Amino acid sequence: MTESIPTVYLIATPIGNLEDITMRAVRMLREVDLVLCEDTRVARKLLSAYDIKKPLESYHQHSAPAKLVAIGDMLAGGKSIAFVSDAGTPGISDPGGMLVRTLVERFGDAIRIVPIPGASAVLAALSISGFFTDRFRFLGFPPHKKGRKTFFQTIAEIPEAVVLYESKHRIEKALEALTSTIGMRQIVVARELTKQFESIYRGTAPECLAALKNDDMRGEFVVVIAPAKV
Ligand code: SAM
Repeated sequence: MTESIPTVYLIATPIGNLEDITMRAVRMLREVDLVLCEDTRVARKLLSAYDIKKPLESYHQHSAPAKLVAIGDMLAGGKSIAFVSDAGTPGISDPGGMLVRTLVERFGDAIRIVPIPGASAVLAALSISGFFTDRFRFLGFPPHKKGRKTFFQTIAEIPEAVVLYESKHRIEKALEALTSTIGMRQIVVARELTKQFESIYRGTAPECLAALKNDDMRGEFVVVIAPAKV
């Protein structure tokens, strides 16, 4: 019965190492009619690594509302659609979240939205943190300008482990901000997870910053902050 309901598959893709994709994800990418993606160049590279040829269409925060109408028409016409972000699980700090919100608002129960789970940078970093992670707070990217100071001050008041994403452009500033707000609380900085230059830094914020500066500040970063001692 449910088979006839138009379906959008949110497919998790690797966060670096191309082997980190599930067999189901590869099969679904082969089976769908269209792959919506954050960036067609990134998705094309990914699909060609698995020898998959599929029509690609970009969907991101600046996509025109007309694109959603076209997606709705395709679904109504019986086409199946996948969405992949540039890396990891769609919807976690990427345009997948907005896509699902908009689809739910617009089509409600008339379409099915199916997760095809897999890699995610937040969980990969938490899993190797060594901190108590049965409870944690994920804050995504710190704001670039307005609200940035408050963002880091607020972390000091959160008792659970805290996880955030940061880019190479702002990691230094983020670790400086943490130095002045969380003091000697331990952190883990996970750089380039699953990639050739994967490195894990453990210590206080100033210790990790010094180690990173000594090493290499390039790449993608997840920062995990230990739970506060109570
Ligand atoms: N949806 C993705 C996920 O599930 O991991 C995250 C998308 S977000 C736009 C991209 C950010 O995730 C990067 O700026 C970085 O902070 C983090 N990230 C992604 N891949 C990473 C990796 N291999 N190593 C460390 N951090 C990574």
